[in-house]
Amino acid sequence: MAQPEEQAGALGGPWKRAVLQRTHLALALLDPDQAMLPLVLEGDHAPPALHPAVRTHCPYCAFQCGMEISGSPGQGSVRGDPGFAVNRGQLCVKGWSAAATLGHGERLLTPLARGARGVLEPVSWDQALALVASRIRDIQERRGRDAIGVFGSGALTNEKAYLLGKLARVALGTANIDYNGRFCMSSAAAASLRAFGLDRGLPFPLEDIPGAQVVLLAGGNVAETMPPIMRYLDAQRAAGGTLIAVDPRRTPTADAAQLHLRLAPGTDAALANGLLHVIVREGLVDHPYVEARTAGFEQVKALVASYWPGRVEGITGVPEAQIVRAARLLGRARTAMVLTGRGPEQQSQGVNNALAYVNIALALGMVGKPGGGYGCLTGQGNGQGGREHGQKADQLPGYRRIDDPAARRHVAAVWGVAPEALPGPGRSAYELLASLGDPGGAHALLVFGSNVVVSAPDAARIEERLRRLELLVVSDFFLSETAALADVVLPSAQWAEEEGTMTNLEGRVVRRRRASPPPPGVRTDLEILCGLAAALGHRERFSYAGPREVFEELRRASAGGSADYSGITYPRIDAEGGVFWPCPAEDHPGTPRLFTERFATPDGRARFHPVRHLPPAEEPDREYPLYLTTGRLLAHYQSGTQTRRVPALARLAPHAVAQMGPTTAVRHGLSDGDEVTLSTRRGAARFIVQVTRAIREDTVFVPFHWGGERAANRLTNPALDPASRMPEFKVCAVRIERRAGPAQSMPGPRPEEER
Ligand code: SF4
Repeated sequence: MAQPEEQAGALGGPWKRAVLQRTHLALALLDPDQAMLPLVLEGDHAPPALHPAVRTHCPYCAFQCGMEISGSPGQGSVRGDPGFAVNRGQLCVKGWSAAATLGHGERLLTPLARGARGVLEPVSWDQALALVASRIRDIQERRGRDAIGVFGSGALTNEKAYLLGKLARVALGTANIDYNGRFCMSSAAAASLRAFGLDRGLPFPLEDIPGAQVVLLAGGNVAETMPPIMRYLDAQRAAGGTLIAVDPRRTPTADAAQLHLRLAPGTDAALANGLLHVIVREGLVDHPYVEARTAGFEQVKALVASYWPGRVEGITGVPEAQIVRAARLLGRARTAMVLTGRGPEQQSQGVNNALAYVNIALALGMVGKPGGGYGCLTGQGNGQGGREHGQKADQLPGYRRIDDPAARRHVAAVWGVAPEALPGPGRSAYELLASLGDPGGAHALLVFGSNVVVSAPDAARIEERLRRLELLVVSDFFLSETAALADVVLPSAQWAEEEGTMTNLEGRVVRRRRASPPPPGVRTDLEILCGLAAALGHRERFSYAGPREVFEELRRASAGGSADYSGITYPRIDAEGGVFWPCPAEDHPGTPRLFTERFATPDGRARFHPVRHLPPAEEPDREYPLYLTTGRLLAHYQSGTQTRRVPALARLAPHAVAQMGPTTAVRHGLSDGDEVTLSTRRGAARFIVQVTRAIREDTVFVPFHWGGERAANRLTNPALDPASRMPEFKVCAVRIERRAGPAQSMPGPRPEEER
């Protein structure tokens, strides 16, 4: 249990005050009328519902807050849905302002094609689809079927992700399909598959969190990225529980924790091994559980013997006393939960980092018990469902492996094709992008719902690759940085203009419902995919009455797979407020909590994995003397294509900032508002300095929501995890250079002023 001094100041939402203060002060500087804009809207503060209201879900993160939307596009009203159990009416600033994108003046309203003058010009849908189909046929005749690449998104509904995979494998016959979810939680997914035989981000419902006496949250700043989840953590601490945060920065989430382990970037496995070392040394392992339900503990025990706290302090920078204290809190708790975010996962050792944290949860005997276990906090809106239904290079629907003969037979039968006609595994996301234009690489790329020139690592190189293509087709609702490079742009409908399903971070399948039709001239992605398939001569296999019919086919394709949706129907989702997969029959209740009796491995046992600490692919040196780490801000989502266009959010976070410590700033002659160039071995980008004591002096933090000269991903290292193929977004070596010119006025307080 938490010690009294650990409780002090922990309750009452200091995380909320920290973020609210930043929010209010920032807005007060920019727009006094909006100075009282709250971080989380709920209850009496929420705008009243207009009638008729449509119940749907937020377009952004994996929390998938329920919301009610009413009114017309552009003047629509959004409020949290008090009847949806996950958020109970709460929304963060991104959610409540989401309707601003619907009637936005920059919406794409007609297909565009690059004409003879080299500029994008309006064309009809028939012209656009015929042009794309004829160019694809020509390229495939000359270069083979795999010369077409397809790039999807963790923002797509399950129906769209499923149909995109089918388009690639059936209509295009290409192996080269992958998606931006590879950049999100693929390392934790691979770790869960290895340890438990099944990957579902949270293998338990969010309701379990308050029941955890101790939560260790590694590398997830949820107070800013998905604020409504804090009500679960607030309840956990209100019940006497302890939150331990692991992060190089003192984020608002770390502010909420009773113990903050401020590790150096790239040292998660060493820290996790050190925690397990103490747990073993002090006799806190649950041996009956380990013997009954797991395999491989002895090898891990032998390995962590060499990770004594003093040594781990030398690697991680976390004081020995804090390591011991955290391990004792975890080991003595009746219920303990280990959660990871992108911090440990987006590294070239991401899978091993996640496995090292999994080892702790297994050694404590927590996985499969209420109030305990290991979970990954998925980031993208449909990051979970998006990795289950076939838009991943190595997968078929139902989380089946594409190299499994039985899986191929099952899915081929649903699609009405021969199993041998299905391509094999293709390139992972970064490898697909980095090989564009190469002999043997893709020479055309179809992009749905992704802005890769902002979100991919080593972004300038990816932009150069995109420019080499014979054909780039982008489906989006705004002219994103990637769409601006395209040969053909297809205007697509937005979240509140379409029907479908999403799967939240718990594995709960929810309904996205249409509140208004898309603007004239705009089509849904499902209509675009079917139209494209028809233009390619596959109309009969891509004819659906609507999203529900696509979902019915997805149910059949997923039946018997790990992610079995066959018992989930639209009416059930409506009636039950969402259904947890696996759900193999319509009379099956769904599965909120996994692994209660056995794991999804052949012998039913979970696997420990011995993990050695290995340094990141690139460490600071004389030329590039600091660590660079990247992440998200409260006001923006992913590449910022949507949130940078929402006025309230743009006012809240108008600049790409570079956070650095006071000593680092002084050493470089910098102060708040100065403009700097950050350089790495990949390239350079410009940022506005924000000096803060909330970050280690050896580390600079930048958000990745901007493109062009402000793109953090021009700096990041594309070194890949050998198993998940996750790039190393979270750590590389960087150099700071002051830029000449007047200082900018900085909105908002420095983070340390918030405390
Ligand atoms: Fe909820 Fe996430 Fe949307 Fe915020 S961005 S309202 S936390 S779903």
